[in-house]
Amino acid sequence: MLKHHKFILLLALALFVLSSTAFNAFSLQAAASTKSAGTYSVNATSLNVRQAANASSRGLGTLKHGTKVSVSKWSGNWAYMASGKLKGYVSGTYLTKVSSSSTAQASSTSSTTTLGQKEVNAASLYMRKGPGTNYSTIGVLTKGTKVTVYSIKNNWAYILSGKTKGYVSAKYLSVIQSSSSSNNGGSASVPPTAPKPAPTPSKPSSGVRIVTAAYLNVRSGPDAGTKAVGVLKAGNAVTVQSTTGSWAYIVFGSLKGYVSVNYLSASGQRIICIDPGHGGKDDGASGNGLLEKDINLSIGLKVRTLLENAGIKVVMTRTDDTFIPLQTRVDIGEQAHADAYVSIHTNSGDGDTSANGIETFYNTTGSVQRGNDSIKMAGFIQQRMVQEMGSEDRGTKFGDLHVLRENSLPAILVEVGFITNKKEATQKLASDKYRNLAAQAIYLGILDYYNYKGQ
Ligand SMILES: [Zn+2]
Repeated sequence: MLKHHKFILLLALALFVLSSTAFNAFSLQAAASTKSAGTYSVNATSLNVRQAANASSRGLGTLKHGTKVSVSKWSGNWAYMASGKLKGYVSGTYLTKVSSSSTAQASSTSSTTTLGQKEVNAASLYMRKGPGTNYSTIGVLTKGTKVTVYSIKNNWAYILSGKTKGYVSAKYLSVIQSSSSSNNGGSASVPPTAPKPAPTPSKPSSGVRIVTAAYLNVRSGPDAGTKAVGVLKAGNAVTVQSTTGSWAYIVFGSLKGYVSVNYLSASGQRIICIDPGHGGKDDGASGNGLLEKDINLSIGLKVRTLLENAGIKVVMTRTDDTFIPLQTRVDIGEQAHADAYVSIHTNSGDGDTSANGIETFYNTTGSVQRGNDSIKMAGFIQQRMVQEMGSEDRGTKFGDLHVLRENSLPAILVEVGFITNKKEATQKLASDKYRNLAAQAIYLGILDYYNYKGQ
């Protein structure tokens, strides 16, 4: 008897969930045409800001009555807004429109920041290893060369030309004028141009966005009725090439198609957790007058500066000579929802003073995706480290290390050199110049990782 009741109750609940889902889908579409982006004023005494567009998601903060917020998009009756540094979803019921936004229009007309296929407009253009003129050149492109732009930051475009990837100054790239560029060999990986986006309040500007839904269908057309061509997961960084109504045409690796803009982050904010190993009572390894904890911190702080200058948010497990337990370090990265975890250490030869060089560890415990991402990131950072430091390449290795094994984030641990090797310790690890090079290498390896994830 009780069982029967339970069954009927479950059935009723299932029907309710199904019908309310259908209703949400309907109201979401209806709302898109009536809600608009712009400045709104909070009309409740206190308004919760949430992580997702529903009342049960995590609270990120509260807004006071009269606070002006900038709404960039709508998800049903939930507005995605920014108020100072606080960003998140609030119920539209408690917002009053103040002014219309013209920013969406303005950004759509800017051609200098769009991604996709571009043409070199300078007589010759250097392609470089990193985003700046201080990086070494890896090639020269001539006027009219067609390239694929993956991302643009601080006027440096990360591009593909033929089979080579690298950075060029974005100001020497322009939109391709001719409509028939079909016989260009380099265009094989470029998706067909999506239809011109219709003006819409929920339009995100082009660029990198993060998937916010647990699973997100990629479809062949800008319509929920079209065929699904793939699935994205929360945290995937996609490149938005254009938008059509509330649909974004995205590229993610070889996957291309349309997704609902409601499940993409408003900005491509990227977060990295940097973990300078040891600290405080824990010196780590020592040798040649040096302590591991000092080297790790020095390099870690330099990596932070480089990342922050590139617009990447950094979470540090320590910024001074403090002892932090291993699990606390992992928790710091996870609680910040960082994209990846990078631990910096200095090696010890354990009696073998001839041991030298660089090695990077990963751990494949956890999801296959995390394991694969960790292996990739270890490879990128190891390669950059060996290049920049000119040290022996000891390769990437599986490491049964707490901060890697107990971590749900893609994580690596780089050993920047041997403190017990006299030459390596005194000439490189003790030198500010080499610490800068190590930081530069770790930074570039992280950019490599983002480019691999974002394409
Ligand atoms: Zn260590």
